Amino acid sequence: MDCDLHQKLQAAYSGEAFREEGHRLVDLLADYLAANTKGDATQAIPYRAPDKAWEYWSSRGPSPSVVDLARDVMAQSVRLHHPHYVGHQINPALPVTALAALLVDLLNNGMGVYEMGMAGTAIERYVVREVATRLGMPDDADGFLTSGGSLANLTALLAARAHQASHDVWQEGNRGPLAILVSDAAHYCVDRAVRIMGLGQLGVQVIPTNAQFQLRTDLLEPARRRLVDQGVTVLGVVGSACSTSTGSFDDLTAIADFCERHQLWFHADAVHGGALAFSDKYRSRLAGIERADSVAIDFHKMLMTPTLCSALIFRRGGQSYRTFSQQADYLFAQSSEPEWFNLARRTFECTKNMMGFKFYCILKTHGPELLALHVEYLCELAQTFADQIRQRTNLELAMQPQANIVCFRYVGATRDEQEIDRLNKIIREKMVKDGKYYLVQTTLRGAIWLRTTLSNPFTTPDHLQGLLDELERYARES
Ligand SMILES: *Cc1c(COP(=O)(O)O)cnc(C)c1O
Repeated sequence: MDCDLHQKLQAAYSGEAFREEGHRLVDLLADYLAANTKGDATQAIPYRAPDKAWEYWSSRGPSPSVVDLARDVMAQSVRLHHPHYVGHQINPALPVTALAALLVDLLNNGMGVYEMGMAGTAIERYVVREVATRLGMPDDADGFLTSGGSLANLTALLAARAHQASHDVWQEGNRGPLAILVSDAAHYCVDRAVRIMGLGQLGVQVIPTNAQFQLRTDLLEPARRRLVDQGVTVLGVVGSACSTSTGSFDDLTAIADFCERHQLWFHADAVHGGALAFSDKYRSRLAGIERADSVAIDFHKMLMTPTLCSALIFRRGGQSYRTFSQQADYLFAQSSEPEWFNLARRTFECTKNMMGFKFYCILKTHGPELLALHVEYLCELAQTFADQIRQRTNLELAMQPQANIVCFRYVGATRDEQEIDRLNKIIREKMVKDGKYYLVQTTLRGAIWLRTTLSNPFTTPDHLQGLLDELERYARES
């Protein structure tokens, strides 16, 4: 290569340029944090239609600095640290985790095999153990981190099938109908995972929920018996802790009893609510989770960590090695021993970033007490918000919140369900386009409800009263 070009290539890695730009970027982000957490930024979501966003970003010219690009991204992105952000379940990243992310990305340790992520691999094991202990699991519980709750759930169901099926599915493929029992309030990724596994629609046996949107555990046994009579092999049950739409916790103890009685796999989808394990006050909502064969938990939902970071933990750690029993000899030196330090033997991912470091930083710099404070503040705020909603005659609460998710709707004077749907849809659209508050919507038993996830410690009861005032104003105008 020509010498100038080679120098240009090397200069792109300049440590000095990185230092200079890095300081400017951190200054910019620190200002963003200060302005948003105080609510000085006027909007929680500066909404742009998809076509407008595409027009802007596809036609933007070259930039002298990442700082200019960052400024534009910030001006056009939803603001999770804003007190008016009460939207989806993703939490505002704790600043220390964003600094950790910088390190993770620059070091770029690939983690597929031990040498490619020595510190990261040991850190990951520590994080998994910390969570397993909080969940009340035995000492030999073990698992790994993976890219999102959806992938954690799929991996758990693959392990369930490997363990429960009477033949070697890995070698021979599916033989005979297999099914998982799961509630109608479960996250859609469970349905998707079962279909990916080639089990089709029959593979997802949906059990109805009660008035609190919890799995009706009294219906598990009749469903199982009906399936067995039809020649279907039931692999296990997925319990939600909590469900995505309403934040409802299934009765995990009843599910554990049922699974034990029939030797079925019990997977707990604690992707959202597993965070409550960090609070002495709220841990009891997860009672029974310590008996699950596998538990999925996200760190980016309620545990202050940036996307994506999830764990899949097995009560009997050895089970975590069964999912992918195929050998990749060039990676793993043909060992059949359980090697905790070669993580890719157990994960779907080959290359994976050092995702445990961000959460590890929270544990080591702030301590787990901060996680407890966070979880408790948000769950208590949800109770306050529910009280506020109940006090307004125009509004209806879907159910008493069990975590930090609150669903409600505007009903006003009408009893016409179609009219109520129409109103709530319009209210939500108007609010998002206006951008002052960010909330979402969900469908419960066929009706449209407004859905909020109380996500950050900057949201106070006053902000929530402001949201309800605004909402009633929109309703009057609709
Ligand atoms: C969010 C969520 C998922 C999906 O997790 P991702 O990290 O978004 O893939 C699965 N289950 C439940 C209960 C959830 O709330």
